[in-house]
Amino acid sequence: MTVAYLGLGTNLGRRVRNLSAARRRLREKGVRIVRQTRVIETEPWGVVDQPRFLNQVLEVEWEGTPRQLLRAAKAVEREGGRTRTRRWGPRVIDVDILRFGNERISDPDLTVPHPRIRERTFVLEGLRELGV
Ligand code: ADP
Ligand code: MG
Repeated sequence: MTVAYLGLGTNLGRRVRNLSAARRRLREKGVRIVRQTRVIETEPWGVVDQPRFLNQVLEVEWEGTPRQLLRAAKAVEREGGRTRTRRWGPRVIDVDILRFGNERISDPDLTVPHPRIRERTFVLEGLRELGV
């Protein structure tokens, strides 16, 4: 079992509902949510010409590998109705693996800790709120 941190983001549709649907779908896939931050509203990042985001950080426990967790995260994005758009563009739900235990991974499709943690204040705020 590994303790991991997930970052959720949404800026399309019913955002509060998108977050709760994502949490439910993560649980259905075996992600145990131990703690969660409050929901934080943030200005868009990267592509600034888009609606504001709601973000939340989850502390979770996961029995499998990082890659299996990434697969679960991507399935949750798909089930949430996320369609491929431009990078950093508007999305119904984004699920990022911020940390996975103390592991360091630097593959093109999976970089952990997440490379943009320090640039996204909601992630830093969320981790601080959890005392991480
Ligand atoms: P971003 O989250 O940076 O706005 P996307 O959600 O569009 O960008 O992700 C693009 C790709 O990033 C995904 O297909 C995924 O394979 C890859 N990726 C690399 N590292 C991670 C990570 N730690 N968590 C989630 N996705 C990651
Ligand atoms: Mg992402």
